[in-house]
Amino acid sequence: MRLLVVEDDKHLNRQIVTALEQAGYAVDKAFDGEEGGFLGETEPYDAIILDLGLPKLDGVSVLTGWRRAGKRTPVIILTARDRWSDKVQGFDAGADDYVTKPFHMEELLARVRALLRRATGHASSELVCGSVRLDTRSGRVSVRGAPVKLTSHEYRLLSYLMHHAGRIVSRAELTEHLYDQDFDRDSNTIEVFIGRLRKKLGVDLIQTVRGLGYLIEPKGEA
Ligand code: CA
Repeated sequence: MRLLVVEDDKHLNRQIVTALEQAGYAVDKAFDGEEGGFLGETEPYDAIILDLGLPKLDGVSVLTGWRRAGKRTPVIILTARDRWSDKVQGFDAGADDYVTKPFHMEELLARVRALLRRATGHASSELVCGSVRLDTRSGRVSVRGAPVKLTSHEYRLLSYLMHHAGRIVSRAELTEHLYDQDFDRDSNTIEVFIGRLRKKLGVDLIQTVRGLGYLIEPKGEA
C-alpha cells in the first residue's frame, strides 16, 4: 500500500512518514498544498493524510480539487483542536476521517488501517486466505498457525494482494502501489519478490494469470 502525507510542519511530517514506513507502507510526502494537490491527483495512492492548514493552498481546497477531478482516494484530514468547523468543512469537501492534533501516532495508524480495509471491502483487521493469515495490526503473517518472517517488501506485496483478493492485480499496479516516488522502480523485481514470497509461504496461494498479473483467491479459512 502506498500513502501520501501532506503536512507543512517538517518535524510532524517526518514523524508520520517514519511511523507509516515502519508499519510497512510506501510513503510519499509533500509540504504544501500545491505539491500535495498535484501528487494526489497524479499518483495512485491507497490513502492520503492531509493537513488542513497548509501554505500555498489550504487543505480543504486541495481536497475539493481532488474530488472535483473524480479522485476517490480515501483521505484522513488533520485538524487543530477546537476547530469543529474545520471538520465539518473537511467532511463536506470529501474527507473520510479525521484526527485532531495533537494525536497519538497509534491512533493515526489504526485509522489508516481501518480506511484501507474499508476501501478494499474488508471488515476485519486480520486477512485470511486459505491457510495464510495476515494481521494488519502487528504486521505478522502465519501459515497454518506457524509464523513466517517476511521482509518489508515481501510483506507489502502480500498485504496488497490479500487486500485485493479475488481480483487480478497487474505487475504495473503492484509497482505503482508498493514503491514510493523515489524508489528505483523495475517491474522485474516484482517477479523476484513473488518468487521469494511463494517460497517462504510454501503454499499454493499466489496464482500467476498469464499476461495479466497475479491473483489470490478470496477463500476464507477452511
Ligand atoms: Ca499546518
